[in-house]
Amino acid sequence: MKTDIQIAQEATMEHIVKVAEKLNISEDDLELYGKYKAKLSDELMDRMKDNENGKLVLVTAINPTPAGEGKTTTSIGLGQALGKLGKKAVLALREPSLGPCFGIKGGAAGGGYAQVVPMEDLNLHFTGDFHAITSANNLLAALLDNHIQQGNHLCIDPRQVVWKRCLDMNDRVLRNIVVGLGSKMDGMVREDHFVITVASEIMAVLCLADDMEDLKKRLGRMIVAYSFDGKPVTADDLQATGSMAALLKDALKPNLIQTLEHTPAIVHGGPFANIAHGCNSVRATKTALKLADIVVTEAGFGADLGAEKFFDIKCRMSGLKPDAVVLVATVRALKYNGGVAKADLSEPNVEALKKGIVNLEKHIENLQKYQVPVVVTLNSFVTDTKEETDFIEQFCKERSCEFALSEVWEKGGQGGIALAEKVLDTLENKESNFKVLYDSKLSLKEKIETVAKEIYGADKVTYSNAANKELKRIEDLGMGEFPVCMAKTQYSLSDDQNKLGRPENFTVNVREVYVSAGAGFVVAVTGAIMTMPGLPKKPAANNIDVDNQGVITGLF
Ligand code: ADP
Ligand code: MG
Repeated sequence: MKTDIQIAQEATMEHIVKVAEKLNISEDDLELYGKYKAKLSDELMDRMKDNENGKLVLVTAINPTPAGEGKTTTSIGLGQALGKLGKKAVLALREPSLGPCFGIKGGAAGGGYAQVVPMEDLNLHFTGDFHAITSANNLLAALLDNHIQQGNHLCIDPRQVVWKRCLDMNDRVLRNIVVGLGSKMDGMVREDHFVITVASEIMAVLCLADDMEDLKKRLGRMIVAYSFDGKPVTADDLQATGSMAALLKDALKPNLIQTLEHTPAIVHGGPFANIAHGCNSVRATKTALKLADIVVTEAGFGADLGAEKFFDIKCRMSGLKPDAVVLVATVRALKYNGGVAKADLSEPNVEALKKGIVNLEKHIENLQKYQVPVVVTLNSFVTDTKEETDFIEQFCKERSCEFALSEVWEKGGQGGIALAEKVLDTLENKESNFKVLYDSKLSLKEKIETVAKEIYGADKVTYSNAANKELKRIEDLGMGEFPVCMAKTQYSLSDDQNKLGRPENFTVNVREVYVSAGAGFVVAVTGAIMTMPGLPKKPAANNIDVDNQGVITGLF
């Protein structure tokens, strides 16, 4: 079997100008980054403001195995299949983070015959957006430490600096560091921390900003520290907003690439799905809706995190209204939820499947709470048996839920025709009455509890003392109307990754709370959440290489 990168390298790409023509974008509106990548101009977005919107389809998944359940692969395959059926479709996806490429996960450009290309570029430096975000983030950090060094007239308490430096790398030794060692001229000594670039608040801000004006407002109100008397100090206070925005000028523009079958794909932004909202940029999604009849987008992790935040944060803030949801399930993940060990997932096991299917059931019920029509799709693996597949199909039918088998990994767009037809049928015949889960006016605790009970199935929520104190401070600061952004394990509906299937009678423990004032949400951290990942014992980086002709190998 060919690897993803082999398939990607064998593909013949179209010139990006030709891909853009499918969306009636002229060359004048493209900022070319070589032959196969382009940014979309601001003028294009301005001009299309009054175009009618296409339909918006969200792809999400059940609770995954540690290998990922194929949301990106399914999204891309669905886009390809819609293209095959002659529809004007476009993808709106996230940019992958460099860090995980060298760790366990490898690339994140889809898989098999459902990929976006050039996959090496997308997985590595792409158009420099993440570099720009890293630079803006670290400029703010440098300005902050310099402010303290130069007399600290804002009275920043060095023990209450909340802004962290960032790097797009899995590098655990940077999680907790000390800066400013040396002489008086080397700065004030304090404990500091690095996060991975995708966990920077700037990434979330960029992805939620409507335009440059909104970007600046959001950057300006980001809280970087608290003063000795407990007052928030913002990026505006440090006069950092303009220079950060200047660094982000091009990063704010969506990128256009293509699938293996030349379907246009707008790939832009990529915030973490735990401490942030895990969706591509609002600008990219809105642009995509103006350009095509159908937009397929993806939210990170399982539906309890990704879809919930897509609806309750991204759609709430931007006014986007999804028309349908595709819920990706795999036989493997259902068996995993039924208690099968990771190493045994390729063995047929209908009994475990029957046990694990309650996870799918809960996600269907959850999505129905948002009143958007749901299509379940089974991302088919070559190891699946007919008995297993039939069981899932029957399960969906009994719940009068649309179902389609997807074979896009193996067959590309052709393998997604059944899914595309179900999606088209749903868009034509089923109405979406999308509504968010909770009212912003509820207290922060009421909002956290609504998500925990309604979506996770928890009985109650407990809070650490620190979390209680911070919730009060945030409400006192006048930010109590922000939506909540739950940081939780993706492997379980609960906050304990070992509780698989459809856990019941459990408590969610909120350990820490903080406000992302620029992004406009309050993060509630449950369990241990890593914002600077580490590398595994055998990093993927050890197998990556490039030959004398510039051909890269080993990127999965
Ligand atoms: P997600 O977006 O849910 O994290 P991805 O689409 O990135 O998942 O897929 C994760 C990995 O699984 C990729 O390496 C991809 O090639 C692989 N994969 C996805 N679907 C299949 C499938 N049907 N058969 C085999 N491998 C698959
Ligand atoms: Mg993905």
